[in-house]
Amino acid sequence: MSSPNARACVMGHPVAHSRSPMIHGYWLKKLGIAGAYELADLTPEAFPGFLTGLAAHGYVGGNITVPHKEVAFKLVQRMDEAARAIGAVNTVWLENGVLNGGNSDTHGFISNLDDRAPGWNVPGCRAVVLGAGGAARSAVYALASRGVEVAIVNRTHGRAQELVRQFGARASAHETAGLPRLLASADLLVNCTSCGMTGKPPLEIDLAPLKAGAVVYDVIYVPLETGLLEQARRRGHRAVDGLGMLLQQAGFGFRKWFGGDPKVTPELRALVEADIRAKTAK
Ligand code: NAP
Repeated sequence: MSSPNARACVMGHPVAHSRSPMIHGYWLKKLGIAGAYELADLTPEAFPGFLTGLAAHGYVGGNITVPHKEVAFKLVQRMDEAARAIGAVNTVWLENGVLNGGNSDTHGFISNLDDRAPGWNVPGCRAVVLGAGGAARSAVYALASRGVEVAIVNRTHGRAQELVRQFGARASAHETAGLPRLLASADLLVNCTSCGMTGKPPLEIDLAPLKAGAVVYDVIYVPLETGLLEQARRRGHRAVDGLGMLLQQAGFGFRKWFGGDPKVTPELRALVEADIRAKTAK
C-alpha cells in the first residue's frame, strides 16, 4: 500500500500547533523510511477540493483535524466500521485510487489501555465513562466492542442517552448523582470530559468509593498528570494518561501511508512529553 517517498499531511484549520509532524517524523527517521509528513492549513472552503484531489496534491493520505472531520466523513468513498459508528473521519488513505476514511481515536484509546494497564479487561468488566462528547464516543464504542459494560455519566444527561441509543445494549446513561454507586462496582474509570485539562475547570470527583483494583484512565494529556490521575495514584489505583492514546492513534495512519511497524517507545513519549512541558511552562 505504501510507496517510496510517500507524503502524508495533517489537514486542519489551524494546524500549526499539531504534534503529528513530530510523531511521524520520529518514526520515519527511526524506521529509515524516505517519506514526509507535512502541515496543510486549509480553510473550510479549501478543504473539500483538497481532500478529493489528494493524489493530485502528491499525498497518499493524512490526518484530519478540527474543523474538517465531519466533512471528511461525507466525502470519503469508503470507511471503516469505527468511523461509521462514530460519525467522524480523522484518518484518510488512498487504496487503488479510492479515498478511504477511518477513525484512529478508537484504536488509540484501546491500544493505550492494553499497553499501559495489561489485564484491565477482567471477566465481567464494568466501566464508567465520564463525558459524552467526541472522545467519549470513541471510548464507548471501543469498550463496548471489547464486551465491556459501560455506564456513561455526563453533565448533559440527554447527550449520554444519545450515546446509549447509538451503542445499544452494553451502554447505559446515568445522572451525576449516581456516580458513587457506579464507582463502587467499576473496574475501569475513564475521564472523557475536558475537565482537568489546562485552562479548563478541574474535574470534581471523589475516588473514595471506587472499587479497589480499578484502573483510572484520563484521556487528557495536557497536563500529563491530571488531578484525577494524581488522586488515583495516591489511592493505589493504576493510572493511565492520554499521551499514549495520541501516540497510538498516530500509528494507525502511519501504517496505512508508510507501512512498517511504528512503536510507541519511551524515547518517543519523552520527546512529546518534553514538547508538552515546554509549551505549558509558565
Ligand atoms: P467535546 O466533544 O467538546 O466534549 C466535552 C465533554 O466534556 C462533554 O461531555 C461535556 O459535557 C464535558 N464538559 C465540559 N465542560 C464541563 C464541565 N465544566 N463540567 C462537566 N462536564 C463538562 O470534547 P472531546 O473532543 O470529547 O474532548 C474531551 C477531552 O478529551 C479534551 O480534553 C481532549 O483534549 C481530550 N482528547 C484526548 C485525545 C487523545 O488522543 N488523548 C483524543 C481526543 C480528545 P456536556 O455534554 O454537558 O457539554
